[in-house]
Amino acid sequence: MDKIRTWARVNSPWAIHFNSGSCNGCDIEILATLTPRYDVERFGIKLQGSPRHADVLICTGPVSLQAKDRLLRIYWQMPEPKFVIAVGSCGLSGGVFHGCYNIVHGIDEVLPVDVFVPGCPPRPEGIIYGVAVLLEALKSGKRPERTMTVELPAGFEMPQAEVRQ
Ligand code: SF4
Repeated sequence: MDKIRTWARVNSPWAIHFNSGSCNGCDIEILATLTPRYDVERFGIKLQGSPRHADVLICTGPVSLQAKDRLLRIYWQMPEPKFVIAVGSCGLSGGVFHGCYNIVHGIDEVLPVDVFVPGCPPRPEGIIYGVAVLLEALKSGKRPERTMTVELPAGFEMPQAEVRQ
C-alpha cells in the first residue's frame, strides 16, 4: 500500500501557493510555471485552492508579522504528510526585507521547509527543479531532513480533517 501511495504522491502532487509577504516577483514566476510555456500540469503538478487537498505548500516572500498566523493556519489545515517549498531569496533569509521591523525572517523561522529555491526571483526552471528535488527524495522513500517542529498558534483549533497517509 505504501508503494501505491508514494507512486500517487510522486506522480500527482497537489500544491497550494501562499504569499507571506513577497513583492509579487516570485509569485509571477510561479504563475509562469503553470502557464502553457512551462506547463507543470503535464507532470501532474496541480495548483489547489484549498489547503485540505494540498500535499505541498509553495511559499514566497519573507514572513511578515501579519501573515505569520495565516501561514501557520494554512500549514495546519494540510493533511499529513505535507511538504514545504520556500521560493525566492526572501523566503530563504528575508532577502531585501531582512531586518525590517515588520518581518519575522525567512520561512524556515516559522515552518519546517523541505526545499529552498534561491533567486530573486528564481526562474520557472528553478522552481520546477525544486519540485523535482522534493519528488526525487519522496520517490526514494525519504523526505528532506527537517529540523524543527511547529507550535500551534494560540487559540487555534485543529480541524478534524481526515489524515491521509
Ligand atoms: S526574492 Fe526577490 S522577487 Fe522574490 S519576493 Fe523577494 S524581492 Fe521579490
